[in-house]
Amino acid sequence: MSMPRPPGGGHDARHLLGRLRELLAGEDQGADRLQSVVKLIADTVVADVCSIYVRTPDNSLLLVATEGLSQEAVNRTRLGENEGLVGLISSTARPKRLKNAPAHPRFSYRPETGEDPYHGFLGVPILRAARVLGVLVVQNMVERLYTDEDMDELQTVAMVLAEILSAAGEKNDDLELRQPGSVKLKGRPLNEGMAIGPVYLHDPVVTAARFFAYDIEKESQRLDVALDTLRQSIDTMLNRATPVLFGESRDVLETYRLFAHDPGWEMRLHDAIKAGLTAEAAVDRARREHRARIASSRDGYLRERLHDLEDLENRLLRHLSGSEDGEISGPEPGSILIASRLGPAELLEYREAGLAGVLLEEGGAGSHAAIVARALGLPAIGDVSGLVSRSDAGDQMIIDADSGIAYLRPEEELVANYRARIVLSGEHKAELARLRDLPAETKDGQSFQLMLNAGLSFDLDHLEETGAEGVGLFRTEFQFLTSQTLPSLETQVEFYDNAITRSGDKPLVFRTLDLGGDKVATFIGGEREENPALGWRALRMAMDHPFFFRRQLRALIRAAGERPLQLMFPMVCNIAEFDAARELVDAEVEWAQKFNRATPSRIEIGAMVETPSFAFSIDALKGRAEFLSVGTNDLMQFFFAADRNNPKVSGRYDILSPAALLMMEHIVKAAARAEIPVSVCGEAGGRPLEALVLACLGYRRFSMQAARIGQIKRLIRSMDLAVIAPKVVELVHSGKSEIREELLNLAKENVPVSFDR
Ligand code: PEP
Ligand code: MG
Repeated sequence: MSMPRPPGGGHDARHLLGRLRELLAGEDQGADRLQSVVKLIADTVVADVCSIYVRTPDNSLLLVATEGLSQEAVNRTRLGENEGLVGLISSTARPKRLKNAPAHPRFSYRPETGEDPYHGFLGVPILRAARVLGVLVVQNMVERLYTDEDMDELQTVAMVLAEILSAAGEKNDDLELRQPGSVKLKGRPLNEGMAIGPVYLHDPVVTAARFFAYDIEKESQRLDVALDTLRQSIDTMLNRATPVLFGESRDVLETYRLFAHDPGWEMRLHDAIKAGLTAEAAVDRARREHRARIASSRDGYLRERLHDLEDLENRLLRHLSGSEDGEISGPEPGSILIASRLGPAELLEYREAGLAGVLLEEGGAGSHAAIVARALGLPAIGDVSGLVSRSDAGDQMIIDADSGIAYLRPEEELVANYRARIVLSGEHKAELARLRDLPAETKDGQSFQLMLNAGLSFDLDHLEETGAEGVGLFRTEFQFLTSQTLPSLETQVEFYDNAITRSGDKPLVFRTLDLGGDKVATFIGGEREENPALGWRALRMAMDHPFFFRRQLRALIRAAGERPLQLMFPMVCNIAEFDAARELVDAEVEWAQKFNRATPSRIEIGAMVETPSFAFSIDALKGRAEFLSVGTNDLMQFFFAADRNNPKVSGRYDILSPAALLMMEHIVKAAARAEIPVSVCGEAGGRPLEALVLACLGYRRFSMQAARIGQIKRLIRSMDLAVIAPKVVELVHSGKSEIREELLNLAKENVPVSFDR
């Protein structure tokens, strides 16, 4: 056993990197190379032990090189996924330093390594992209707390090691470091559709070839140039007169600007270059730190800011990895974009890139990226855990956003299968497009109105292409959600004006702000609620913020000018709320008249039926509302007391159950008694079986996502209501507890279309 070494310190990081570079340029390959690396590190940081553990395909951690522990243990000692301190570092992807390692509850003793006398401990994960490839450890016999510089330095070395290991893994099957074969990933569908294409990583990867600086002066200059370009591009974005997306987040960009000009950040990057890294590696180094901090931070505000920084670093890396003339290489057309998350305007920046799909590690149905993906018509899946760490640029991927599944590096058979499905769905779409100009009329002559749900200006492109009769639900909060600050009166006017103009002669129903619940705008403060879906949201919030709400009403009235205006309130719970909101509209009209401003030729005001209490208030609404629209998404969540955003419960209850259908029937009948036209604008109206059943109960107007219109029109044109409606109604009233299967059979027997969702 060697003599314990006194702890080191004050060594030169540049020296270590320089030696590492020489070593990599030398003859040693494979295991010899790793052995030389551990020896070099042990010497430089004056450690008694330096070891590398590599994560194997079964997720255990294999000791592959060591200086100081018994050589017998190499390629033999294997720790379980969560075993010991090494397992802890690997599973948390975070470094760990301890003065006295054996005292730590997670310390695991392996006699074959001869490890017992070692106390001082520092281990860092070997990360590539966000994937843990292994763990690098240094140990000392004496108690020693490694310094911040030691940790910094070891992390830099680990970054280089990640590249060596992944290169070694490509040549050596024992070191299974290549990504495992086909991987099935699951997430939440954000926008339906299927595609096959190569992976394009939103977060740039720095390759091994770009790690060591040969000419420090030149690297510093490259960094300066890239920083300049970055700052300029952010300034340009910030000054851009007409943002592509309304409310494009000026605040986010302001923060970028502040960060981008932060001298502390710039200095750290330059320091890393002085230590021997290239400009890319220096930025990557900073990015890893920020990522690690994001992973460990619970403070929402701090996480957001760290994400901003990471974002900025990604941008900087893209500038650095651009060709000499500064061109940034984007995705090839047909690529599938993979990102941990995307900010409000980022997906829009890929608008011209011809992407085939999007997968996000974070990001639910209400996320900004989901909203934009829908507007751009891109198949998209969110909440895919383990996505970024498992994907490499150029990997083939299938995205099946209808089922919320993606396959990375799929088998050929599966690719062939999906290709066939995609061709079929293309043919299907073409067939549906042919229906565009045909009326939505049943075989027995009953007319239906099919409308579009929209929320961004792109959505209105679908009006023409689907042949929708108008916009039955325009979710105005999207403009607010994609903005970091409260949109000004002028911005709102411009947005609504544009929407009214683009819908031409077709009617357009603006739903007033429906914020709160899962739709949280960053600029609205307020306390965290235990139960946000049942909390301070939608109309409740609007009425408590009359200034805020009136500003929206004023913008809507001003945007309409002399054109007719249709408004609808979300989440109304009782008549008094509806009346109070309506009074505010009247007050705004009076205000406009007082100042001799144009006012709409006609204003129609409706309410969404989204709460059971309001469903049973319809009789009293006679003469007070011009129309109603059933928001089945919320209505069902409240009816069944099942959070629509919680996957554990959201799929548990069925609108096609007798209880829910009896309420839906009550609503349509009550609306008829009160002589108020009623539509359905929740997702159910866009699903064939649900739409058929609702049609049988008496609904004649449906508003839905663009992609659903063709299918529902074909359904309507294929059915004979006089034949099927009585059978459906009978089943609903049969007293049975479950009827979905029977409804499906009835539908299949009577209407020759597919009832797949
Ligand atoms: C609904 O609740 O059904 C609805 C259409 O509104 P949103 O989905 O926007 O809450
Ligand atoms: Mg709703």
